[in-house]
Order: sequence, then structure tokens, then C-alpha cells
Amino acid sequence: MRVAHVLIFPLPIQGPVNCMLKLAELLCLHQEIHVTFLNSEHIQQRLVNCTDVEIRFKKYPNFKFMTIPDGVAEDNPRTGDEVRNVVKGVEDVSSPMLREMLTSGLLTPYSLTCLLVDGIFTFALDIAKEVGIPLLYFDTISPCALWTYLCLPKLIEAGEIPFKGNDLDTLVNNVPGMEGVIRRRDLPSFCRETDLNNPTIQRIIKEGKHIVQAQGLIFNTFEGLEGPILSQFRTLCPNIYSIGPLHIHLKKSLSSPKTSTSNSIWKEDMSCIDWLDEQPKKSVLFVSIGSVATMSKAQFLEIWYGLMNSKTRFLWVQRPGSVIGLEENNDIPMELSKYTKERGCIISWAPQEEVLAHPSIGGFLTHCGWNSTLESIVEGVPMICWPYFVDQQVNSRYVGEVWKLGLDMKDVCDRDIVEKMVREIMEVRKIEFLERGREMRNLAIQSVNEGGSSYKDLDRLVEDIRLMRI
Ligand code: UDP
Repeated sequence: MRVAHVLIFPLPIQGPVNCMLKLAELLCLHQEIHVTFLNSEHIQQRLVNCTDVEIRFKKYPNFKFMTIPDGVAEDNPRTGDEVRNVVKGVEDVSSPMLREMLTSGLLTPYSLTCLLVDGIFTFALDIAKEVGIPLLYFDTISPCALWTYLCLPKLIEAGEIPFKGNDLDTLVNNVPGMEGVIRRRDLPSFCRETDLNNPTIQRIIKEGKHIVQAQGLIFNTFEGLEGPILSQFRTLCPNIYSIGPLHIHLKKSLSSPKTSTSNSIWKEDMSCIDWLDEQPKKSVLFVSIGSVATMSKAQFLEIWYGLMNSKTRFLWVQRPGSVIGLEENNDIPMELSKYTKERGCIISWAPQEEVLAHPSIGGFLTHCGWNSTLESIVEGVPMICWPYFVDQQVNSRYVGEVWKLGLDMKDVCDRDIVEKMVREIMEVRKIEFLERGREMRNLAIQSVNEGGSSYKDLDRLVEDIRLMRI
């Protein structure tokens, strides 16, 4: 039988793994496409411990997991800025192993016909050339953020980076399509570096040069949200597949859309759904900073006081290790604990898609990771954005200024501002934000419905992968 055989290799952190597994499942719905999903050993172990992923994927005879070391010692940190350990580990350790795996024909029963990997894996371009197969990059961050990455050389050439002077509110001129929108503070966090030889800046410049050379570029977004930026991309890489929001695309495509599609690497605490069931409609603010971001203890307390002073109900994901300098929970002022008992719920990891879809949720204080942002958009939940790093600075600007789906709190963490923004979202401008959220939610749903832009792009992607059969 002639089959297409795709090797999918995500960056081994929660967001990209989640996205790529969803794409893998969508591809597996087509029998003539076989998928080998290459996970890091670390991620695979955690996925298996925390979800039913192994059982779930058993129903696809055309799917298999393989694992590879990611080069990060188990006791090395993988969150905060240390997430760079993961990128470096993959480059140094996993990439030579991948090359060996592909050149030695270890992938069976069908030889590989396509590589589909994270956009940050610049090494994949050489490997694909060497093996003689097409390469598709899937960049799981937002196109609006990735577009600023691609414009980095232009920004440097024009002297806009490194910044001259300290004014972060100066508008940026050399990101086509974002004139008048993006200030210095809204550029990706690494743009604040003063040394252009910084390894992150160098890696991003390299990424920009590589992704435009692949056969295609896949995005988890939809035309109704990022149409103008996608048009900018098409000037450099004509073959764009914009197939998101992937989580609703997958749910629509499954014959039993109610079944779990969780790919969490922490155990989800389902008890929060019972707690949400008891709260009034649209009364709860969901608070989460995702899988990588961290905060100081001082910031943690400012947010907590802001929540208490706003008198809002809240569901807060306090991921283990996410608050630097927090010793014990008895470190928390009594008044905060007392308020939380009355109107709050704290958990260590949430079933986030389900939480955001719950009728009691009225807002989301988020770090603006791309998955979280999209998941919030799909449920029409207004956001307070507190970006941590890299792409999140751009996403939060787009949420606040372009899409008008919430408020951007970047670069501050003060209890009075938290309180003010929570009140704006949950009370003062609630109707306005919910209305805008509904409009965008409808566009998201239309895009994955039959005939919608993401539906058509996924169809085209499947067809193009099929044609890559040997
Ligand atoms: N997530 C989750 N439960 C939580 C917090 C996050 O399932 O308690 C999921 C969330 O739904 C999203 C992913 O983790 O799909 C986080 O990805 P994102 O791109 O938002 O941020 P990152 O973690 O990469 O910074």
C-alpha cells in the first residue's frame, strides 16, 4: 500500500506538544496518512502519567509514539527563562539522534515521506534535505508574534533595536502591517536585550531565515482573527496553512466530540468544575500563567490582594514551582486565605478548555501564551493580559488594542491596577467585552465549519501530505 508517513516532532513543552498532538489526531482520521509522533522521554512519561493519551491513540492503527531524550537532566529546571535549556538540549542531543534515526531507516513499517516539526527547529531543514523529504514547519505561537520575529533583521538594520533611550512607549515603524499599533514594550521580550549577540536573538534571526525555506508553514489561527498578518506572511512564504483553532477543529472532526482530548503533563484537578457549578453565571475570574511562566512572591501577593480588593470570585491555577520564593502556604497573610475560603478556589492544574467553556467564567487573567489566548477567544472570555516573555508581549497588545477582547496589563503588577482591571472586565465594561467576545467566537467557529477558511486549509494540508507519498 502507498501511504504518506509523517514524523511529527514538537518542542517538548506543554503548549507545542498539546497543539501537535491535536494536529496528529486530525491527520490520523485519514487512513492513508501514518503518523509517528516523536516525544521527548520526559514529556511522554508525564503525558502517560497524567492522561489517557495512550489508550486514546490506540484507536488509530496509523499512529505510533516514539521517544527520544531531550538532553535536559531530570533535575534541571525547564520553566521560566530556563526553558531555553529545553531548546538547547533538543539542538545538542535530540537533533543528531533524529538525523541518525532518519538516515538509518529506523522508522517502520513505512519509510518517511514528510517531516513536520516546530518552527524553532532550524536543524530540521538540513536533515530534511539530507534525507530528501519535504519539510513542514508548524509554528505554534501566534502569527502576529512570529511576524515580529521575522522582522527582527529589519528592525536591527533600521536602528530600532537595540532601543535607544528608555522610553518603551515609542511606536515601532519597521514591522509592516503593525504601524501605529506596536510600541517597543509590545515587541517580543528578547527585543529588550542590549546585546545583539545574545543567543536568543541569534536563534530567532536564524529561525526567521529557515522557516521561509520549508515547503509549508502551519499555523494555529484563523483568517477572521489574523487575516492581515497572514497576508504579510504570504509575501515571504506563499504556502501557509492556517488551520486553527485546532482544539475546536479536532472536536468537530471527532465522531464523539464529548470525549476528552486532554494532553496535559500535569494531573488536571476536576474538582474545580464542581466548584464552578456552584457559582453564579459569568461571576468567576480564571487566573493562570500557563506551563512555563513564573512570578515573584511580591507579584503573587499583589495579584492576590488585587483579586480580594475587587471582591471578585476567582479560580486560580497555582502551578507547583511557579511562584519564586514562596516557601510554604502558611506564608500567606490571613486576610487573603480568609477571602479565598469565601470566594476563591485554588488548584495546581486545571482542565483549562473545560474551565473556559464553563458558564460561570466571566474573565481570564492570563499570561497570554498562544494556546491560552486562542482557547479564551473560542469561548468568548474577556482577558486581562499579563505577559511573561517572548511572543506573549505581542499577543497581549493584539488582545487589548487590535481585537479589543480585553485589557493589557503588561509591565506592571500592582494591586490597585489589578483591582481596577478586574472591575472593568467583570463589571464596568462586561457587556461590551462579552459582545466583542461573542463576535470573535462566532468567527472562530465559522472557520472550522465545513467551507470555512481553517476547514479548507486543513483539507489542503491533508491533500498535500497525501501527494507526498512515494
Ligand atoms: N493548561 C491547562 N491547565 C492549566 C494551565 C494550562 O490545561 O491549568 C494548558 C492550556 O489549556 C494551554 C497550555 O496548557 O493549552 C498552555 O499553553 P500556552 O501556549 O497558553 O502557554 P505556555 O504554557 O506555553 O506558556
